[in-house]
This record gives sequence, C-alpha cells and structure tokens, in this order.
Amino acid sequence: MITIGEQVTRDIQETAEVCVIGSGAGGGSLAAELAEAGVEVVILEEGGYYTSKEFSPHPHKAIPQLYRDAGSSTILGTPAIIFSEGRCVGGSTVINGGMCWRTPERVLHRWRREFGLEEMTPENLEPFFAKVEERINVAPQSPESLGKGDMLFKQAADKLHWLIHPNRRNQKDCTGEDACVFGCPTDRKQSVLITYIPRAMAQGARLYADTRAVKIKAQNGRATEVVAQVLDRQTRKKRHTLTVKAKVIVLAGGALQTPCLLMGSGLAKKSGQVGKNFLCHPNVKVVGIFEDEVRYWAGVHQGHQVHEFLEEGILMAIGGVHPALAALGLPQYGRRSLELMEQWNHMLVAGALVDDTTTGKIVRAPWGQPLAFYQVDHVEHERLIRAAALLCELLFTAGAKKCLLPFTYLQEISGMDEIPKIYEAGIKLSEIEVLTVHAFGTTRMGRDPRRAVVNGFGECHEVKNLFITDGGIIPTSLGVNPQETIMALATRAGQYLLENRARYLG
Ligand SMILES: Cc1cc2nc3c(=O)[nH]c(=O)nc-3n(C[C@H](O)[C@H](O)[C@H](O)COP(=O)(O)OP(=O)(O)OC[C@H]3O[C@@H](n4cnc5c(N)ncnc54)[C@H](O)[C@@H]3O)c2cc1C
Repeated sequence: MITIGEQVTRDIQETAEVCVIGSGAGGGSLAAELAEAGVEVVILEEGGYYTSKEFSPHPHKAIPQLYRDAGSSTILGTPAIIFSEGRCVGGSTVINGGMCWRTPERVLHRWRREFGLEEMTPENLEPFFAKVEERINVAPQSPESLGKGDMLFKQAADKLHWLIHPNRRNQKDCTGEDACVFGCPTDRKQSVLITYIPRAMAQGARLYADTRAVKIKAQNGRATEVVAQVLDRQTRKKRHTLTVKAKVIVLAGGALQTPCLLMGSGLAKKSGQVGKNFLCHPNVKVVGIFEDEVRYWAGVHQGHQVHEFLEEGILMAIGGVHPALAALGLPQYGRRSLELMEQWNHMLVAGALVDDTTTGKIVRAPWGQPLAFYQVDHVEHERLIRAAALLCELLFTAGAKKCLLPFTYLQEISGMDEIPKIYEAGIKLSEIEVLTVHAFGTTRMGRDPRRAVVNGFGECHEVKNLFITDGGIIPTSLGVNPQETIMALATRAGQYLLENRARYLG
C-alpha cells in the first residue's frame, strides 16, 4: 500500500485513526507499533520510495535521490556547519551509518533533573530499547566484516589504553560494503525502510511517498486534519492536494522540518519553545595518510567507537566517506588535490562529534522552509580543537605519517611531536571545517509547558491529540548516536497511545 506521487491523479481526502508525518526513525517505528495493534494508520512521506535495487554507489545519483537538498543543507553561524539528512521512505535511517546506542544514564539523569522527566530511568526505558534492538537487529559486527582501517583504529586505541567499544549496529550478516550512506545495497543494514515500514504495511497501513505535509489544522485546541501536497518527484512541484482527517496526528519530520510545520500552522506558540534549543553535535574530521595501503573502504562503515573521552563530550570513530566527498573536504585544490587523492587507498578518515553546550534555533523562512542558526560556543570550540588533536594522536599511533587537518591555515602535521601546534595555533572558529548529521531539541520534551513543547510521551502540551516523535523532542545533547533513542521514545509514545486507546482513538 505504498502510493508514489505519480500514481496520484487527483486530489484525495483520506481518513485514518492516526496520521504520521515522516517515515524515518521516529515516524516509521511508531507507525509500525500502532498498525500492528490494529490501528488504522496513514503515513505521509515527502521523499521518494526507493528500494535497494534503485540505490546507487555513485554520489551524483544517490545523494539527490535519498538526501534533502542533495545533502547540502547549511546551518548558519561561524563557522557555517554542513548538515545532511534523509528525505526518502525510511528517512535518515536509509542513509545513516547504522550505529545504535542506548541513551546514556548521565543523559537520562539530566532529563530527570532539568526537565522533570522522572520516568526516564534506564529501568523504565529498558523494554523499549530491547524492543527496538530486536526489531532492527542491533548486533556487533562479525570480525570478517571489519576492514584494515578499523583494525588499525582499534589497535591504536588499545596501545593508548583508550576505552574502545565494538560498534552496535542495526545489521544482519553485514559484509562490510561500506555503502551505508548511499543506502545499503544488500539490505543488510536494518533501516526503517526494511524493518518497520514493511511491518506497518503488512498490517494495512497506507503510505503516501512524494507527499509533503504543509499544514496541521486544529479545532477547539485539538489537532484534526493534515493538509499535504503530492509532489512531482523530479520538479518537486505540487501536483495534487491530499488531506487526512485523523483522530491523532503525529509529527515525525525531523528536528528541522517539524518546528517549521508547527510554525506554518500557527500551533503550539504559547511556550515560545518551538524551533528553539537546537542542538547538533558538531563534528570534525582528520585524515591520516599511511605508508602502506589501508583501503579502509574494504570493510564496515564504523566497526568501533572510542568512548574514552565521552565524559569530556568527545566521541571518536573512523568514518566511511566516499572519495568524492572526502576530496571536497581536503585542504587543497587543483593538481595538489589530485596528488592527494592519488593516495586515497593510503588514507584513513577519522571523525569526532562533540557534545553541545550551547543551542541554536530554527526559523521558518518566508518560502516555508526551515533555516537553522547555531553559533558554536567557546566550550565546543575548545572541544573541536581537542578532538582534532586526539584524532591525530590516534592516527599517528596507528602508523600515519601525516594528518590532514580540518583547519584553514594549519592544514597538516607530520608527526606526534607536531600535535602541540594544534593547540598553539590560535585557530579561530571561522577557520574550522565543521559538519553534522544529528539534530535535536527544537520541540523538546519536558514536564513544564512553559519550557517544553511536548511531554515525556511526545504529546504536545498545547494541542490535544498532536504528538511529536522525531529527534526534535530530545531535550539535551546525547553525546552518542541518536537513532535508538528516537525509536525507543517513539515506541514508548506508541504504547502510551495504545494504553489510552479509548481516550485518543475512541
Ligand atoms: C549520513 C548520516 C549518518 C548517520 N549515522 C547515524 C548512525 O550511525 N547512528 C545513529 O544513531 N544516527 C545516525 N544518523 C542520524 C539519524 O539517522 C537521525 O538522527 C534519525 O534518523 C532522525 O530521526 P527522525 O525521525 O528525527 O528523522 P528522519 O529519520 O530524518 O525522518 C524524517 C522523515 O520525515 C520526512 N519529512 C520531513 N518533513 C516532512 C513533511 N512536511 N511531510 C512529509 N514528510 C516529511 C523526511 O523526508 C524524512 O524522511 C545519521 C544521519 C545521517 C544523515
């Protein structure tokens, strides 16, 4: 029951018990939970429906197909931050790296203390994490899928006595093709596209792809209807209107799109928190160049993570980047860039994300799209510099002869003894290349309606029967990859709706 845009030949009026907007981590998982309990669900997804047969290893095809804005969104600030998210059935889970971590206890503690979310304990969340892990098959990688790059990374961390963990990933028999970010060609990554969406469809859910929700209507303080545009997949122009009258409406378009949709609908304005508190885990990367071939693409995307510096707000991993994308970020151009890329098989790209201590905001542009603003603070500034220095330490320990840095003026160093230069160079924020693929906080959850948009079950404080289950409800920086947290919270919201079925769906 997946309807793609071109199959729609007229305006449509739908009715459903629940309408879910967005089919990614938060939308797809909730839709399946409800559909499997017999709830009539309609899912609206702005992006296209593509299966692994249509995925491509070539960035020029894969990125426009699966990513919003062809992967080139920008978060405004100094430095501007390159941001990517998915726009397809399955959302960002189709193109993500597959890392799966439970919400750390220190983060839950903060949620309880700062946001009055007393029920957010590891014990209470355990069944939801366990259910998600079973649904998307969270498991360590088999040793055969690990490449040489990953092994070098692990050996170096061991040598430095740094805490390093095998990554928990949603995969079944992953063979380490390292194509996660263009959509898994073998369906071994257990994204929402091949787990929750088929479960929901098998129970009669109806999904409209190429369909963008543009307005939520409410009557007497209760959400009642979604107005959406069925788009032409190529031109992205409106072809038809689709309206869905539903008893419950769930927003799961991601932390940038959902606040924008709320603003465009004029809803949930009282708290003043919609679009505020934007968090994004800024990332830096360092490229190590080795004497011998590494061929790190011959192995899984990220087999391990260094957790030694989590308390300092730094998480490190190797990063499976396509050479075309890596070339964009190298500190050279022209012939020098070509010479560098000729060493591609000798390179190992490593990255680190840092915990946010500051927040940004999402604003709705006059043309209806979100604009994200985020100014890296002095704390993250120091963390980004330290993260780059630590990545160099790891890569030199692994045997790198040179490290290419994410800084405009200090572009490379050639040995461990040059690492102090990173701290001493007085690197300004404007001179750091920063990127991210995580977004939270913009419709944050909390007990107090003056400080939060939704409660701990994702229900909007101000609008009855309106729920939010995407990354936007996460109220603080996580410090680890977010998809499992998002799915667990969405699963919990689903259980809450089912337990209160008479009230919401009766
Ligand atoms: C390249 C990359 C690598 C990543 N790696 C990891 C990783 O290894 N581990 C991890 O935990 N996380 C990772 N992430 C992040 C993780 O995938 C996201 O945090 C998570 O998927 C967000 O879930 P969500 O439900 O908020 O949004 P999404 O999963 O992005 O889903 C939102 C969906 O809603 C749709 N939508 C938006 N607005 C509308 C609208 N108005 N109408 C209809 N549909 C709409 C979008 O098209 C999209 O498909 C990665 C992300 C990227 C981009």
